[in-house]
Amino acid sequence: MSERLAFSPSEILLLGPGPSPVHPRVLAAQSAPVLGHLDPEFVALMDRVQADLRSVFGTNNPFTLPISATGSAGMEACIVNLAQPGTNCVVGVHGVFGERMVDLCERQGGTVHVVRSDYGKPLDVERMLQTIREQKPGLVAFVHAETSTGVLTPDDEVRAIARATHEADGYLILDCVTSLGGRRMALDDWGVDAAYSGTQKCLGVPPGLSPVSFSDRAMQAARDRPSRCTSWYLDVNLLGGYWGGERKYHHTAPISAVYGLAAGLDLVFEEGLEARFARHVRAARALIAGIEVLGLSPLVETGYRTPMLTSVNVPDGIDAKAVMQHLRAVHKIEIGGGLGSLAGKIWRIGLMGHGARLTSVLRVLSGLGDALQRQGETRDVTEALRMAEAVHDAQDRTDSPA
Ligand SMILES: *Cc1c(COP(=O)(O)O)cnc(C)c1O
Repeated sequence: MSERLAFSPSEILLLGPGPSPVHPRVLAAQSAPVLGHLDPEFVALMDRVQADLRSVFGTNNPFTLPISATGSAGMEACIVNLAQPGTNCVVGVHGVFGERMVDLCERQGGTVHVVRSDYGKPLDVERMLQTIREQKPGLVAFVHAETSTGVLTPDDEVRAIARATHEADGYLILDCVTSLGGRRMALDDWGVDAAYSGTQKCLGVPPGLSPVSFSDRAMQAARDRPSRCTSWYLDVNLLGGYWGGERKYHHTAPISAVYGLAAGLDLVFEEGLEARFARHVRAARALIAGIEVLGLSPLVETGYRTPMLTSVNVPDGIDAKAVMQHLRAVHKIEIGGGLGSLAGKIWRIGLMGHGARLTSVLRVLSGLGDALQRQGETRDVTEALRMAEAVHDAQDRTDSPA
């Protein structure tokens, strides 16, 4: 018999757009004995996970639970339950994930009005509001933190779009995949009707689950729709029967993945939400200070930068891909490249969850400085590290990365 070797992956520091580094306690939790999906101990854990998710989402929505698949399934769950043939949709697009929402709305037979801005620019809120007033859409959707560009939509703009959506009697879907666990969320206060996220970004849990939350009003719409939801797996009426009061079997919950999420949420609340959000901001500020010393610049303008993901412009004459390959091969660091119109033009550095700390910043700055020097550039890496550390330790109370 030939001997098979177990897969043994390298230890890579994950500073890309996700997955993010996973805390050893989360990995350990996932290797605990498997319970049945209706076992009383597991049901108690489900209740705990749901309560914790409500806290990070900033909501009292009873329907708040992890869908058994990655973030894109959460996106699909929101759209398949709230859109049907002929639904008038307004989608704000300023990156790749907004495009995905458009695709899904179209697949449901929706009539989609796209409000587009260039990648790297903020969402065009004025045009969103105007289009909502004109179109009176049943559905409005956009991405809170666009991971393909590093743009974050400020709270007051989210609130303004929600208000306009409700005045038109529509429902607002918010993509919170990258923001949940890294940024203060307030679904109820903002007026968001349906939101979804993923475990592998700022929650610091391996990919595989998608926390979602539906308001009672959105649940009512999903209940009252004239035609059945086109997806059986993602039908919120059925999912609510397992995660809600009846505990009726729908599909077998991915037990070990739920253990991991519960452990990840324990870490979130041990640290405290506010401390966690502040840690993300400080790490991003330190990174931006350091890259500026290296002669690099962030893509996104001040006031719209999302702390969990910083896009960095690739200087003229630098081979973006070679830098990434050098980081992976020599420094054991993963960062992301540009997508769509930004391919080859930016690097995306994620400081998410457990990875949002000074040690990650110092490692990626060292690696970047080294990679640039290999391409013949002269950069003061020592000064970049010193500056990052100084900015990280400064007592600055602002909420914005830089
Ligand atoms: C990662 C991401 C998604 C997709 O999530 P998957 O887990 O890859 O399916 C959607 N939206 C945003 C903003 C993301 O960052």
